[in-house]
Amino acid sequence: MKTLETRKEKKAQGKVVKAFGNLLQVTFEGNIRQGEVAMVHVDNLQLKSEVIEILGNQAKIQVFEDTKGVRLDSLVSFTGDLLEAELGPGLLSSIFDGLQNPLVDVADQAGLFLPKGIYLSALDRQRKWDFESSAKVGDVLFRGDRIGSTKEGRFHHFIMIPFSLYGKYRLTWVINSGSYTVDTVVAKAIDESGQEHSFTMVQKWPVKNALIHGEKIKPTKMMDTGERIIDTQFPLMKGGTFCTPGPFGAGKTVLQHHLSKYAAVDIVLFVACGERAGEVVEVLREFPHLIDPHTDEALMKRTVIICNTSSMPVAARESSIYMGITIAEYYRQMGLDVLVLADSTSRWAQALREMSGRLEEIPGEEAFPAYLSSRIAEFYERSGVVSLRHGKPGSITIGGAVSPAGGNFEEPVTQATLSVVGAFLGLSRARSDSRRYPAIDPLLSWSKYVDTVGNELSHQVDGWDQMVKRARHILFNGNEIGKRMEVVGEEGISMEDMLTYLKAELYDFSYLQQNAFDKEDAYCPLKRQIALFQLINQIFDTIFDFHTHDQAREFFLDLQNRIKNMNFIPFDTEQYRKVFAEIKSIIEQQSRK
Ligand code: ADP
Ligand code: MG
Repeated sequence: MKTLETRKEKKAQGKVVKAFGNLLQVTFEGNIRQGEVAMVHVDNLQLKSEVIEILGNQAKIQVFEDTKGVRLDSLVSFTGDLLEAELGPGLLSSIFDGLQNPLVDVADQAGLFLPKGIYLSALDRQRKWDFESSAKVGDVLFRGDRIGSTKEGRFHHFIMIPFSLYGKYRLTWVINSGSYTVDTVVAKAIDESGQEHSFTMVQKWPVKNALIHGEKIKPTKMMDTGERIIDTQFPLMKGGTFCTPGPFGAGKTVLQHHLSKYAAVDIVLFVACGERAGEVVEVLREFPHLIDPHTDEALMKRTVIICNTSSMPVAARESSIYMGITIAEYYRQMGLDVLVLADSTSRWAQALREMSGRLEEIPGEEAFPAYLSSRIAEFYERSGVVSLRHGKPGSITIGGAVSPAGGNFEEPVTQATLSVVGAFLGLSRARSDSRRYPAIDPLLSWSKYVDTVGNELSHQVDGWDQMVKRARHILFNGNEIGKRMEVVGEEGISMEDMLTYLKAELYDFSYLQQNAFDKEDAYCPLKRQIALFQLINQIFDTIFDFHTHDQAREFFLDLQNRIKNMNFIPFDTEQYRKVFAEIKSIIEQQSRK
């Protein structure tokens, strides 16, 4: 029988011989392994750290905390365990740091994170959960198989055979349904060698290994976001990946917040990784008050937030990324659709660079370590749809913000990300400066999911994918004509070109742009997008009759303002229908008879 190795022998001990920032060199006696957690003793505190390099009886460890107070000869005790996530009911609604310390209590006192050296249990040990067993004595179960379940918010939280246990388990005892704490033994089983195991509602998993049981299958379902430019032009899929690179202030965080509020998934893991402290505090303040538009319940009920700020040691950023994806993987095994948002992966890459520098590794491009792209690829590869032995498949969609210096997409982090993701939503300075929000550049961005999603939507609208491709074409042409117009002036272009230009502008202004802060416009359901996109396509199809450029411009300005204003009216109301009909009749009156 194979189990993830756990060492039983005496734990190793060591002493600090050299310190360089939060990288410590340690001599040790005993047996240690890569990734093992070690505690550094400082005064009466113990600081958590992780082994990153072993050479003979010397090891380099990175400390997850501020290392002030660490001295030569400070004692280091190795734990034998890898950095693990604690998994069980009660993760939803939590706010953790990268080591899974719950920050709920400190979140009230904005900006205050845990004092160093204090580690709390991730799950509430006192809280009772209504456990209902589904397995029976005599059942033969494997890792990930369900013993029973409890209700966590609106979800069935399945209690599963720990993923770290391989082989067959025959149940010998199952607790009666009832109300229990997470540490209560709820079932017992014997393995193939006759050894007995007890199972509680909690299990652990090392965060740097992918937690997956089942077959990965191709994503087939769209993940709608309520953001028109995304759903229509650059669609995302459940189980897919995307990135949102953009310069500082272009709207990456606003976009990620939007997605965490509105994306049509069950659960959102929001990893606030190394961004400014103020921003993270904003998340902590704002989120608990938000309402889920799909269920009208508190949004936190489907959310887990993991946060570190740029003021925390770099090692903590790396662990928050892995902690986030591991919790997501756990919920995927319950057949849920999970969205992982990381803001921003550049901060994580900077942490890798900093640590690589201290380790004196041979630097790659822009001093990032040579393994940068493989780390990024490994992270995004943990996305995907997984078919399960019981019930419907679960999925993880990953979306990473990237903040390249100066908004230059040629830099290594953006490039490494672009080569692995399924959709690229590039935010541009030009668009955010002209307040065209969301500043996703429709000329730069792409999605590999256009055809698959197009097929799915073709059942609702005939020829959807053709319409989407044509719209993009008009945008490109309009942009070209706009540039030409800057040189030769409006008089220098034909009426036909003028109309293409105006159609592209109208599409951009009244459809692709969307106000994140307006109650109605912030979230545009798919049904509403379809109705509006069909109207826009009617405009594309119409051959208009104008005598002068000025007349055309005036007409289009009026039309695009009318559509924009309609976006602020609640959908499917009498008023909406009236305005919609008015706009249609204006278009028809102006068309060539
Ligand atoms: P970044 O994370 O890229 O540095 P932010 O997301 O913090 O940038 O956005 C900076 C500012 O831009 C916001 O505070 C807001 O004023 C404006 N902004 C961004 N996106 C939108 C939007 N969709 N609608 C309106 N304003 C926006
Ligand atoms: Mg930001």
